[in-house]
Amino acid sequence: METIFSKIIEGTIPAKKVFENERILAFYDIEPAAPVHVLIIPKKPIPSMNEVTTEDLPLIGEIHAVAQQIAAELGIKESGYRLINNCGPDSGQAVPHLHYHLIGGAKLGALVGGSKSHA
Ligand code: 5GP
Repeated sequence: METIFSKIIEGTIPAKKVFENERILAFYDIEPAAPVHVLIIPKKPIPSMNEVTTEDLPLIGEIHAVAQQIAAELGIKESGYRLINNCGPDSGQAVPHLHYHLIGGAKLGALVGGSKSHA
């Protein structure tokens, strides 16, 4: 399926890239939710986490390694960050191409626990 992210992978839509190899691309989110907000995506067009197969698990593992590397390069490895995947309508997933939000650079509000447990 053609999405905004497949166009970024093809280069027909510009993005500020922070990492790229043959399998993975990472770029700054156009509407940052925090001082650091990078999207990490596989180049393989997997629509969502629901379509990840066992064959994709090395790729998912590599995305975690890339997230760790980017966090170090952007200076948030020690201060902390979140790696978030939205899957499906209730999560607010807007782009049907698997992606992980790497968010940090500020104290982040609670997503789970406390008064925001359903936020
Ligand atoms: P989702 O809600 O699907 O988990 O997140 C999609 C993210 O993609 C949003 O945070 C949104 O700001 C970002 N986004 C949407 N279109 C573009 C774009 O054209 N360029 C970039 N860099 N980010 C985009």
